[in-house]
Amino acid sequence: MNFSRRKFLQLAAMATAGFFLTDNTASAQYSSEIWEPPIEKLFLPFGELKDRKETERIVIHHAGLDKDYSAHAIHKFHRDVRGWSGIGYHYVIRKDGTIEQGRPSQAVGAHAANHNYNSIGICVTGNFNVSNPKTAQIDSLKMLTAWLCQKYNLNPMGNGVIVGHKNLNKTTCPGSNLYPRIEEVKCYCRDFIY
Ligand SMILES: [Zn+2]
Repeated sequence: MNFSRRKFLQLAAMATAGFFLTDNTASAQYSSEIWEPPIEKLFLPFGELKDRKETERIVIHHAGLDKDYSAHAIHKFHRDVRGWSGIGYHYVIRKDGTIEQGRPSQAVGAHAANHNYNSIGICVTGNFNVSNPKTAQIDSLKMLTAWLCQKYNLNPMGNGVIVGHKNLNKTTCPGSNLYPRIEEVKCYCRDFIY
């Protein structure tokens, strides 16, 4: 664990304990500076992208193959094989918990048919129909999702705000071992923000 990640976990623990959240206005004002989790910026080259006009949903995916695919590898696959503008997910969470930036966060993604116009897509690497997500991945998913809820002013407990891909399209994504953990992610976000 590098310093920034450790520091963030420390801050997150303090927030959960209520250290910073005595004044909602102040915490909202400074949230993006204080709470941004460490995110590896890969500066991937994209084709044409459009900006998203609204952000109402966070969609959780798995990669579907039990390998530790990087955002770079998924980017090449989505661009060169699928013919898309580049990686369809906004974030990729590696098996060691590293969060990588995929598509720029304000761009319309390509991860959930009919729902890309108003959602952010997070891909957790692995196939969670056959294996379990790593603790580091769940920890990072919680941090990232909590930060995104603050950034986009989303209520994590709201109906359809934090969902698995299978809630939107006909798929088993994000897998039978990750899907039940979404409730835990939502509760973490609620406790983190309020
Ligand atoms: Zn999916």
